[in-house]
Amino acid sequence: MKKPVFKRLEGGCACNHVRYRLERSPMIVHCCHCHSCQRLSGSAFSINAMIETDQITLIGDGAPTALEDDPLMHRCPKCLLPLWGNHPMIGKAIAFVRVGNLDKADHLIPEVHYHTASKLPWVSIPQNVPTFEHGNEGDSLMDKEAQSRLNTKLERSELPPDRVD
Ligand SMILES: [Zn+2]
Ligand SMILES: [Zn+2]
Repeated sequence: MKKPVFKRLEGGCACNHVRYRLERSPMIVHCCHCHSCQRLSGSAFSINAMIETDQITLIGDGAPTALEDDPLMHRCPKCLLPLWGNHPMIGKAIAFVRVGNLDKADHLIPEVHYHTASKLPWVSIPQNVPTFEHGNEGDSLMDKEAQSRLNTKLERSELPPDRVD
């Protein structure tokens, strides 16, 4: 699938306290139809854009914070809306931005759908987009450039603190 030309996208929380800008195009955009995503979104699925955390610039008054019992999710401290999360296996250098929080969410189109086994029956997925009944059982679906962007961040975050110079 050919990706559209990237324009820096802006987004924010429900009360406008936290505003941010994505400085480059995400590595990949996931759509997840698992029960947990349905529950947390209060809807049919979640859409997450995977990007380097340092490519998110805060442009509003506030900065996101995390709740004690949900330390991986970055939320607005006022309205508590979740903005982006970290994956426990991937680390803090990579963020999963909730695409619905963007002002122009239509600019990011899911490139893969996960957990379609629990997809709501009325949701139809375009035929040319890869789907997985559960998680990703196979290889990465990212293109080469995105894969190397991810690898760079993983290698850095894997260094134990005492070895970082
Ligand atoms: Zn807010
Ligand atoms: Zn999910």
